[in-house]
Amino acid sequence: MLIDILFCGVCHSDIHQARNEWGGSIFPMVPGHEIVGTVAALGEQVRRWTCGDTVGVGCFVDSCRRCDACTAGDEQHCENGVAYTYNGYERDGKTPTSGGYSTRITVDEEFVLRIPKGLPLAGAAPLLCAGITTYSPLRHFGVKAGDRVGVVGLGGLGHMGVKLAKALGAKATVLSHSAAKRDDALRLGAEDFVATGDPEAFTKHAARFDFILDTVSARHDYNAYLNLLRRNGTMVLVGVPEPSQLSAISLITGRRRLAGSNIGGIRETQEMLDFCAEHGIVSDVEVIPIQKIGEAYDRTLRSDVRYRFVIDIASLEEPRS
Ligand code: NAP
Ligand code: ZN
Ligand code: ZN
Repeated sequence: MLIDILFCGVCHSDIHQARNEWGGSIFPMVPGHEIVGTVAALGEQVRRWTCGDTVGVGCFVDSCRRCDACTAGDEQHCENGVAYTYNGYERDGKTPTSGGYSTRITVDEEFVLRIPKGLPLAGAAPLLCAGITTYSPLRHFGVKAGDRVGVVGLGGLGHMGVKLAKALGAKATVLSHSAAKRDDALRLGAEDFVATGDPEAFTKHAARFDFILDTVSARHDYNAYLNLLRRNGTMVLVGVPEPSQLSAISLITGRRRLAGSNIGGIRETQEMLDFCAEHGIVSDVEVIPIQKIGEAYDRTLRSDVRYRFVIDIASLEEPRS
């Protein structure tokens, strides 16, 4: 089905890939995997959608649909290789995919999400990556009401993590290297804020959290954060920085667990969108024209984004000045 794109969020993964920080980037590249738009045309076999529907496309556009992961609804872990929305290949293994910094995209109906009525569309776009990437580990690792949750890094993912943890009834604390984000953290729903630049922060808050969601995009010391977990606590990495060293003692002490999580499957993404509609949750966004994308990348790298840039795709149609 053909989708006219209205908004596309700017994920830090777009920057990592556009700048080839993970290696193997495919150029030319059209980034963007937080896509919201309107159905413009339907292929003959499309059954579930009608023209004019408001829809979303997230981080992948196809998978094998047969393997254990796919049948379990974990298409992002497809054993035969998921087709990422951009910087990947279609199932034929040779046609490069192109993402949402674009006026239109064609996607198989099974990989399209329904945007619930009532959600503001620019704010809904980041749910397609930042939303599901934080919702999925919170649910998978069973975060529940009353749990003490630390969210490390208050950026696109982090601010969604705070909102979602709060909606699940957990007590969220933001751990940030930007002391100026304290008020925002509390406004977003956190109960507490820890400035990680404070030399005493890591002793003062030792063994405090049941669960830590680490969204930091730059290299940092995992051991320091693991020490903030209580006995049997779990820290989940979703940020993808350069590698750093892990000490076994950080895990052995307190029988702690360190895990990772990658976006989420189609079923769970729809569940997250419906959960957000029910709880009135969207991303805090700064809408920009495409002409400001370079500046948006630079500001994101300086942690100067409140809290997600979203491209108004109408700006792509504007004549060049
Ligand atoms: P973002 O908006 O740039 O947020 C990252 C946050 O990390 C910043 O706001 C900042 O928070 C913190 N940070 C940045 N530089 C730091 C430094 N030098 N030291 C300590 N903290 C620093 O990025 P995002 O879009 O949320 O993405 C975060 C990471 O998740 C990226 O690596 C991205 O590729 C990855 N990601 C993973 C998945 C997945 O499925 N696993 C999905 C999407 C994105 P403070 O200012 O509060 O410290
Ligand atoms: Zn992303
Ligand atoms: Zn599969």
